[in-house]
Amino acid sequence: MQYEFNVEFARAQDQIDPLKRFRDEFHFPVINGKPAVYFTGNSLGLQPKNTQQYLNEELEDWKNHGVEGHFHAKRPWMPYHEFFTESLSKIAGAKKEEVVAMGTLTNNLHLLMVSFYRPTEKRYKILCEAKAFPSDRYALASQVRFHGYTEEEAVIALEPREGEHTIRHEDVLKAIEDNKDELALVMIGGVNFYTGQVMKMEELTKAGHAAGAIVGWDLAHAFGNIPLNLHDWNVDFAAWCTYKYLNSGPGAIAGVFVHEKHLGNPDLPRFEGWWGHEKETRFEMPNRFVPMKTAEAWQLSNAPVFSMAPQRASLDIFDQTSIEELREKSIKLSGYLEFVLNHVAEKNQCDFEIITPLSWDERGAQVSVLMHGQGKALFDTLMEEGVIVDWREPNVIRMAPVPLYCNFEDIYRFGEILLRATK
Ligand SMILES: *Cc1c(COP(=O)(O)O)cnc(C)c1O
Repeated sequence: MQYEFNVEFARAQDQIDPLKRFRDEFHFPVINGKPAVYFTGNSLGLQPKNTQQYLNEELEDWKNHGVEGHFHAKRPWMPYHEFFTESLSKIAGAKKEEVVAMGTLTNNLHLLMVSFYRPTEKRYKILCEAKAFPSDRYALASQVRFHGYTEEEAVIALEPREGEHTIRHEDVLKAIEDNKDELALVMIGGVNFYTGQVMKMEELTKAGHAAGAIVGWDLAHAFGNIPLNLHDWNVDFAAWCTYKYLNSGPGAIAGVFVHEKHLGNPDLPRFEGWWGHEKETRFEMPNRFVPMKTAEAWQLSNAPVFSMAPQRASLDIFDQTSIEELREKSIKLSGYLEFVLNHVAEKNQCDFEIITPLSWDERGAQVSVLMHGQGKALFDTLMEEGVIVDWREPNVIRMAPVPLYCNFEDIYRFGEILLRATK
């Protein structure tokens, strides 16, 4: 695509955007009397306008029905999580029985590792990325300690090569091969939270399996961002949060995927709770746990309806489009953002280094830039001028033009402000 840095170009692109109607479905923060340029949907997605109605309906049903809301609410609370399955399975590229809306991301990673990190005397190592989100590192380290290992013994954290920011695919393959006799689990972020790098999940899953390991993915930055095919990729398990690209609100209910091949396996250890027990006999309250034959077996508690209702609102929007359509627009937007950054850097002689891979198939919506010599003052100026981006130490600005609600003109406006701010 041939990009230009002028407002006519940006508006013309927005005019022909088949997804433009969705922008109006979201609330934008207002700064200086204008809707913000919102590039932090990778951190907290914007609120859909119908979220309030969904929450209100639950409040009304509670008010009017009390406990009977479990059966008589508009969306009965008893099977409430089931209202999410179909939409989530599409986004995950999974069968319906393989996904469930439950818990929170780090909690879910622990629950899944209880089942899928089962170290033996010979096989006890976990392969992850060195720049994993800190919560993932804490979760992994505490899991290996729980089994009696030290982090140094059992966690292999992959670093990018000297002078590089992202991990090379061949280096991950090599690490898997080098550790193949000791590897119990490969657990990496599908999209790295810092650089925005998309990992080649299908190939790495295959390589992990060939080495005799289990392969799980943290999809916090992948879910609702890039196309996923978890079932066909033969991924063992995955977990995600939904307040990022899924616009479900702060701390919203998360989700998990467990591959069909592991469902109903009586030998799998699991931390159990009553909502994972087969639903036909759940209320007979038997003493012996009989797991559901779906990913629902990992649920512990009854549905937290108020942290789930906003996600139902958001999924209604996702149901009107597809990840493929969103991805097509996303590739154009992140390409335009890269073009605009390079344009400004050239014009004002700034030293911006894009640390996100430049090739479209190795990145999602996010572009991360190392702002050499442009300190935090630039970030503060952007925020004052109504551009909401995310700052990470030491000197990285992360931006995600989210295709559901961002457009070309947002990126143009950002470019104009950046031009002025770096003169
Ligand atoms: C956002 C994010 C988290 C956050 O974990 P919570 O349990 O939802 O607080 C964890 N891991 C990764 C990779 C993330 O991007």
